Amino acid sequence: MLELKRRVGLSKYMNQPEIKEKFRRQMMRLHKEQKLTNYVFTRPHRKLKESIKRSGLNGFLTERPVLGFMVDEVNYNIKIAVEVDGCYWHGCSTHGVLNPIAAVGKRIKKDKKEKYVLERDGWLLLRFWEHEINEDMSGVISRLRRAVNERLHTVSCA
Ligand SMILES: [Zn+2]
Repeated sequence: MLELKRRVGLSKYMNQPEIKEKFRRQMMRLHKEQKLTNYVFTRPHRKLKESIKRSGLNGFLTERPVLGFMVDEVNYNIKIAVEVDGCYWHGCSTHGVLNPIAAVGKRIKKDKKEKYVLERDGWLLLRFWEHEINEDMSGVISRLRRAVNERLHTVSCA
């Protein structure tokens, strides 16, 4: 079904009223679920948090504010902010295809603003996709470890 939609192209598919209605209902349900889960950890974020702990990377705090943004994992000492992006909600190019453009666009805009504001203040913002966390956690952790080492080096040399 998903593959078919991708192949046919969503817009062509949406011309059929019954499909459109089914899609609309599915979207409403997803939005409702999203509202309910807004205040709890998303699963990939929880996975990352646990892996950070296991990896021995210190100083990361969960769900902390940075310059007005609520960030998933924050290390204030070396100014690293880590966000986990759900493939669907943040419009990853592989898994975000069914998301209506408007909703994704809003998030992408917010993500861009966050990057701009944090980097302007000397923060390093790392974003990981949900699928990266699910498929290659060791790669995610080694990228994070490399970033931490670089920042530690920068701080100690400054
Ligand atoms: Zn994805």
